[in-house]
Formats: sequence, structure tokens, C-alpha cells
Amino acid sequence: MSTNSLSKLPLRGSGKGPKFPEDANGIEVHDYIEEVEELVADVPAINTDQEKKDALLRYLPVSMKRIWRAISGYDAGDSYDKFRKNILSSYDHTEIVSVKGLKAMLKKYLHVRVTDLDRVLDLRREIGPYIKGLFDLKKVSNREMVQMLFETIDEDFSASVWKKLARSQLQKATTPSASGHVWSVDDPIGLGELLEELELQARLSDSKNRVMGPKFGNHSHSKSNVEHEVRVKEEQRESDLAQLKDVFALVQKEGERRHREMLDSMMKMHQEVLSQKVTLSYQPRSYSNNMSSSQGQSGHFQGKSSRDTDGMVRDIICWFCGEAGHLSGRCMVRQKYLDEGKIILRGTNVCLPSGQVVYYTTGKDCQKMQVDQAI
Ligand SMILES: [Zn+2]
Repeated sequence: MSTNSLSKLPLRGSGKGPKFPEDANGIEVHDYIEEVEELVADVPAINTDQEKKDALLRYLPVSMKRIWRAISGYDAGDSYDKFRKNILSSYDHTEIVSVKGLKAMLKKYLHVRVTDLDRVLDLRREIGPYIKGLFDLKKVSNREMVQMLFETIDEDFSASVWKKLARSQLQKATTPSASGHVWSVDDPIGLGELLEELELQARLSDSKNRVMGPKFGNHSHSKSNVEHEVRVKEEQRESDLAQLKDVFALVQKEGERRHREMLDSMMKMHQEVLSQKVTLSYQPRSYSNNMSSSQGQSGHFQGKSSRDTDGMVRDIICWFCGEAGHLSGRCMVRQKYLDEGKIILRGTNVCLPSGQVVYYTTGKDCQKMQVDQAI
């Protein structure tokens, strides 16, 4: 039984068990584990991995127990060794952190170049725990850290970064930098700025290589590396500007195209409206003109005709009686003469009863006068 087996270990707080210090660092955690393991070694009944894992928890504060149980490897099925290793690595920041460890880690990045973005990023990531465990705790000074980094990276990379940072640091010599580093003559560069600049220059170089091809960056051992970096930055800036210009030109082109399209469609619409207006206004006018002209013509004609007829009727002089206003065919005088037998009609001709035609000639006596004379 695991509980029985574990009960053979000293109780927590009994003064005999190992103490787990507050804010334990990696070395202290390592010491604690070794103490527990010594105790466990004296109790042969504790022989399963799970019992050994629980033994490690036995002397922890309650809150820490909860954290350790959550560490990968505690679960049944995982070995004690895996759990032990994961506990220690979760305290890595403080456990492995030593100046010796830092120097060993930096050795992996010896002569790292500006063209090696991946390794620069790895370096930044890997130096994090050392910054926490050494730099933040003031076990190593800014100057020492910066110097170690400069000794690690490629000479040309060093020169380029130094040139950039020393100059910018000189410019703001009296004010603390963003990372809190206070400038001084023998310690001009803040660790934070240095790491930033390393990554920045590596990224610039990387983006340049991607544009120019990897061969372009491979000659980074040449002495013109510093100038190369400056050129990279300038060209990057120029290419950014050029890109911006292109984007602007594109936007402008697109804007112009849309504007043209809009104008075109507006012109079309305008023309349509215009032609509709013309159709609507011209045709009725032309129609009405036609109508009015035809009406006017017909009206004029009719008016003239009626006026003429009126005039003609008014101007007519009856061939028979010689009075104005009626034709001889409607002459009541002639009708009277016909009824009295004084005249007869042969066709349209007015004749005396003898059959002698009585002619009407303009300017001479009317037919009634001639008949009257002949009777
Ligand atoms: Zn008459």
C-alpha cells in the first residue's frame, strides 16, 4: 500500500524531513529532491514510481503540491525519472542559470552572423532565463552581459551593431534608455537595446536576402559588412518607399479608373435623360407643330375657305334678279317668274316661254330685266 509505505517517511514539519524553501531556485529544488530520494532509499517498501512521485510531494507546501501535480510526468504511466526531469526543467530559469552556464550557452552562438536570423532569434530566446536568473538579480552586470554578447557574435555583426547603438546611445547619453539602462562611457549599451538591435539587423538582412537571393548575404565575412548593413537598411527603406509609391500609384490608378467609369456611366445616363427629354419635348412639339401646322393649315384653309365662301356668298350677285347674296338657283324672284310662266328652264338655261335663252353677261342687264323687256 502506497500510503502505508509513505507513512514510514518522516512527517512534514516534524523537523526531520527536508524543507522546501519559499521561492526555491533550481539548485535548491535539486537539493530538496536529493534529500527526499535519500529518505526514500531508506524505505524499501517505497518501490513504485508513483510512490516515489508522491514522496516528492510530501514535504511541499499545499500550494506547491498543486503546482507539482500539474507538472507533466506526474500522471500514472509516466516514469519517476520523467517527472523528476520535468520538475527540474520547470525551474530551469534559476537551476541552470550561472555565469558558467551562460558562457556555455553563448558558445553555441559563436560567430553568429547578421545573415543567420534563425540563430539570432534562438539566441534571444535562450538568453531569456539568464537575463532573469543573472541579470535581473544583478548577479551579472549590464556591461558584462553586453561584452559577452559582443565577444560571441561575428566581428562584422558586432561592429555594425556597436556603431549603431553607441551612436544612438551617445545622442541620448543623459537619459535612461527604454530598458532602464543608464548610459556611461564604459557601459554605453543596454542589454535590451543590444538584443533588439541584433534581431533588427538580422531581420533586415534576412528580408534583404529573400529579395536578392541567399548568395547576396553569404559574403558577410567580407570587410564591407558594416557598409553592407547600412546599405541593406537604406535599400530596405528605399524599397519600402518604392512600395509605398507603388501602392499609392495603384490606388490613384484605381481611383482614376473608377472616376472614369463613374463619369462614363454618368455621361451615358445624362445622354439617356437628354435623349428622353428630346424625345419627350421635341416629338410632342413636332407632333403638335405638325398637328398645329396641319390644324393651322386646315384651320387656315377652312378659315380661308369659309371666309372666302362668306365673301363669295356676300359678293355673289344673282344672275336673275341682280341682287347680291344668293345664287340665281335659289332666287325667289326667278321662282316666282317660273311659277307665273314668264320663264321656263331648259337644262340650266333660263328661257323665255318661246324657248329663247336669256343669257347673263357680266356688266349687262340681269336676266329679270331682259325677260321684263321681252314681255
Ligand atoms: Zn335673284
